[in-house]
Amino acid sequence: MPCGFLITTKDRIIRTANQSFSESLSRPSCALEGRCLDTLLTKASQLFFDSYVVPTVFREGYCNEILITLEADNGLPLPKVVNVRQMDDGNLAWAFVEAENRTGLFKELEAARSAVEEQREELDQLCRTDALTGLANRREFDEALKRLFKEAERSHQPLALVIMDIDNFKSINDSYGHDVGDAALQGLADILRKISRDTDFVARFGGDEFAIILPNTAVQDAEDICARFHQSISEFTCERAMTISIGISDRTQCSPIEYQLALKRADRALYTAKQAGRNATAIWGHFSASEAVAQSKPKYITRTNF
Ligand code: GH3
Ligand code: MG
Repeated sequence: MPCGFLITTKDRIIRTANQSFSESLSRPSCALEGRCLDTLLTKASQLFFDSYVVPTVFREGYCNEILITLEADNGLPLPKVVNVRQMDDGNLAWAFVEAENRTGLFKELEAARSAVEEQREELDQLCRTDALTGLANRREFDEALKRLFKEAERSHQPLALVIMDIDNFKSINDSYGHDVGDAALQGLADILRKISRDTDFVARFGGDEFAIILPNTAVQDAEDICARFHQSISEFTCERAMTISIGISDRTQCSPIEYQLALKRADRALYTAKQAGRNATAIWGHFSASEAVAQSKPKYITRTNF
């Protein structure tokens, strides 16, 4: 972007001029240094300078977007848009842009602003996304849970919450390496994406733990969906068979502000599923832990409370 820059004393004696400024006047910068800026202006601009620009700069410390006209040696007028600012040492910094290019300049500024905005959105997206799986991250999940809990309460609809954790995942990493572990996490994320509905909210909590919010879903339906997760994961080929444990809770026994309680309960249910031997789904709230184990069905679908 061609832009002329000048540093002058407060009396507008030019100390330095950049190449763009001197070229626009077809003079070497050494011919400008020591000269008063006022002498490079047309008569009309000098008047404007004295009556408005100079008093404004000394009052406000700056003056932006002024239209003045420089005069080239051959007498040709050079309209410029000028910003001027008083620096800490009392000198004045001047920036000159071709007045004819003003629209172009604004277009450039607009394009730069859009680029910054796009970058901001990308960064925002990165802050909300888990890099390995592309799923929402924990931070995003917490916000979604709060919002969906309130919506479910408002519409008197059920809402189920699922937390799952890969069984003995450390040993996959230890036996086959971190890359195989990463591929297993990505594979599980794909399965969750495929089986979940568009209205469900799937997130990676971190490590080998994932969570899903299922709006408009009763616990029994969530249980069926979790049975499908178990089934698909048993068909998933990693270096060796992989299983998951799942905890389910719902919002029925929580107030709208207690979404964190539903989360805690799903987490407790997950713990019970692990305790029950893994490769299991436990549901918060119906039977005792011992009944849960006694009643375990194929795939260890259990109901429990604590
Ligand atoms: P459990 O059945 O009790 O869950 O046993 P576990 O071995 O799965 O234990 P835990 O869930 O505590 O282990 C999680 C492991 O996940 C620990 C860590 O090494 C591994 N891990 C966490 N993040 C990543 C990751 O991004 N990539 C890989 N490959 N491994 C990860
Ligand atoms: Mg695990």
